[in-house]
Amino acid sequence: MWQPEIETMDPERLRALQLRRLNETLAFIMERAPAQRKKLEDAGYGGAPLRSLKEIEKLPFTYKKDFHDNYPFGLFAADKRDVLRLQGTSGTTGKPTINGYTRSDMELWKDLIARIARAVGVTGEDTAQISFGYGLFTGGFGLHQGLEHIGVTVLPLSSGNTDRQLMMMEDMGVTVLVATPSYALYLSEAAREHGLGGRLKLRVGLFGGEGCTPEMRKTIEDNLGIVATNNYGLCEITGPGVSGECIERNGQHIAEDHFYAEIIDPDTERVLPLGEKGELVLTTLTRRCVPVIRYRTRDITRLMPGACPCGRTHVRMTNTLGRSDDMMIIKGVNVFPSQIESVLVGMEHIGPHYLLLLRREGLHDTLEVQVELAPSEDIESYAKLEGLTGRIREKLRSVLGLNVKVTLVAPQTIERFQGKAKRVVDLRNG
Ligand SMILES: [Zn+2]
Repeated sequence: MWQPEIETMDPERLRALQLRRLNETLAFIMERAPAQRKKLEDAGYGGAPLRSLKEIEKLPFTYKKDFHDNYPFGLFAADKRDVLRLQGTSGTTGKPTINGYTRSDMELWKDLIARIARAVGVTGEDTAQISFGYGLFTGGFGLHQGLEHIGVTVLPLSSGNTDRQLMMMEDMGVTVLVATPSYALYLSEAAREHGLGGRLKLRVGLFGGEGCTPEMRKTIEDNLGIVATNNYGLCEITGPGVSGECIERNGQHIAEDHFYAEIIDPDTERVLPLGEKGELVLTTLTRRCVPVIRYRTRDITRLMPGACPCGRTHVRMTNTLGRSDDMMIIKGVNVFPSQIESVLVGMEHIGPHYLLLLRREGLHDTLEVQVELAPSEDIESYAKLEGLTGRIREKLRSVLGLNVKVTLVAPQTIERFQGKAKRVVDLRNG
């Protein structure tokens, strides 16, 4: 463990630490962040310390819109001269969401990454290839600094140019791959095609930036002969390192000394009992540049009560099950892309690549699932294709409770992604 005294802290002491830090954060906001102060006061908060963590439920939510309305620096609590770094969303249209980091924010971020890397056995002996895009996106620089912090040799390759990625992976003796799961999948397929298996020293994957189903992870692990963990974060809250899996790979430990997590019903906005599935809401407890109260992440997960065999006491969240704004409603049924992926990845005869096409027919939305055949499959055999299509449709029906159209397409015809995958094509407008 990187910080065992904190990561295994007695739960009662951890709650007391959270309450103390939450009150410090509120006092800091009231003193130094006028836009956030006004919002709290408008919601009836007078500035007195909270007496319990439960009282946080009286405070207003922070939305992505608050970052946009206060763009670029309106939410900042730090003086401009104390800001060391600006990061943001990697969106290609409109204004990005901007977050800033003081020196203390940078230091704690390094520790957050060090914890998730150490949790899967990464040490100073390792060489890590970072195949996240570098830039405003928090993934590249976030992992970079955190891995250097524990003495890892870092190879900042960024994404793209697959042949070069594989060449460097082999030549530099890379042992740790940092990437989005979709790019790791792409690289793993290319490595397998090039017959690189026995020549790579790769042993660990640190995946983040998007969700990863167990089935997709298994495919990547088999292709590359590695053990991979998922981690989670978002730029409004710091970036990667908010939570990450330990070697048990049964839920991601949230760094509770730095973040307070709630799960709410996204429609009623009520806090749900521990263990129920809903939208993750996060409050920062130690950030100084942009402290954030009750941020609506839009990510769907659930908290897992109970002790973890690894010894860490910080609460676990399941790998994200989708985003509340990615959720499709088809004929009244809630459908997440991750549910479809869990069916497709791991099935025989088909590759891991798929596309979801949403259409409107009359008053109803319909879903077509395009699935790519595995490279070795004989696309000429009509009966075989019919049988396969039927099996996929039946499996999807049992998981989703919904009939969807399934179309098989030829190998290598669905677009590959080098960053976050875009699996849903919405054809309903126009
Ligand atoms: Zn654990």
